[in-house]
Amino acid sequence: MQPAAAPLERSTDIATTVVTMMRQLGVMGLPRNYEIFYEALAGSNPELSLSVIALSNRPTQDELDLIGRKFFAQNHGRGIVEHARDVLAHELEEVATLLRAERSHVEKYGKILDETSGGLKNRSALSRELLEKIVSAVSNATSSTIERGRYVANALTEKTAELETVKSKLEEYKRLADTDPLTHVWNRRAFDTEIARIYSSNKGILFNALILADIDRFKDINDRFGHPAGDKVIKSIANIFHGSAVPGMFVARTGGEEFAIIVEGVSEDYTFEIAERFRLLIEQSRFQIGQDMECGPVTISMGICMASEATGPEDLYTKADSALYRSKIDGRNRVTRHSTMGGRSGKNWMLYKQD
Ligand code: GH3
Ligand code: MG
Ligand code: MG
Repeated sequence: MQPAAAPLERSTDIATTVVTMMRQLGVMGLPRNYEIFYEALAGSNPELSLSVIALSNRPTQDELDLIGRKFFAQNHGRGIVEHARDVLAHELEEVATLLRAERSHVEKYGKILDETSGGLKNRSALSRELLEKIVSAVSNATSSTIERGRYVANALTEKTAELETVKSKLEEYKRLADTDPLTHVWNRRAFDTEIARIYSSNKGILFNALILADIDRFKDINDRFGHPAGDKVIKSIANIFHGSAVPGMFVARTGGEEFAIIVEGVSEDYTFEIAERFRLLIEQSRFQIGQDMECGPVTISMGICMASEATGPEDLYTKADSALYRSKIDGRNRVTRHSTMGGRSGKNWMLYKQD
């Protein structure tokens, strides 16, 4: 048997393969591309490795960025923000240079006017020729200043447009960083921010609720129909949540086949009704996974907890999760309220797997 390679040797080997592979595929040598290929070859995330293997012969930067956003959302976002910051710094520097040049030009114009008005005071020395010279100098300086003003105004308009582009790009990237690429509902990162917001106001604590949902026996769907079919089911379920969400509802995909829904301004009974409605809708839906092919009934289990029952975001999540866990051990395809669990909490996802 071959001895295991030392870590350094292994990483050097991978780095060489990464560079060769990127060259062969014509991938730009950007740090974020190296990150994708390095991690894919290191095998730290099999799903990432599969996505890289599935790339075409000449992958576009957009295709690579899609993978980057999916697997390294935070780093990717940071890279973009850094890029935007550099562009912004450059643009501001240019505007400052423009304004400095403009100031020196205006000062020069002011000096010409000063000198001219000084000359005009000395009436005895004013000949017609001199007057003509003065008028022509002032007229030249004035038109050059007007011209210059127009140039500066145009340049500033152009800079403003460039800054607007940077701004909207940043907004677009922020939206992408908070969006789940598969389902287009909010992702875990956005959910963490939103759940923390509940506890920043008393109103939020009194009236908000959290619903956690997990697809039942989802592994079976993947095993029977394949991963892409599983993805289709996840997407359809997200569409059902999103499509039947009431105002003030925040739908996020927080894990593989797990969703979290924050409901605003409601009682526990109403939250339960909403969750039941989702459960029934999904139970009664048909899930198309290919042409003329359906995957049979799909069900979800849910747990609900009112924000007022928890001490903070993490506690709220844990309590809704333990209610979800109860739905699983009680037979799945049901909704459990944390308040009915009589102080039972904690999480042991391994337990229900043995039933
Ligand atoms: P239950 O929740 O009812 O206990 O059973 P389960 O079979 O759903 O159990 P578990 O939550 O452990 O399995 C989830 C599976 O979801 C495991 C994983 O392979 C799969 N999965 C995770 N993310 C994705 C994804 O993005 N797409 C697909 N197709 N499958 C995924
Ligand atoms: Mg799960
Ligand atoms: Mg599941």
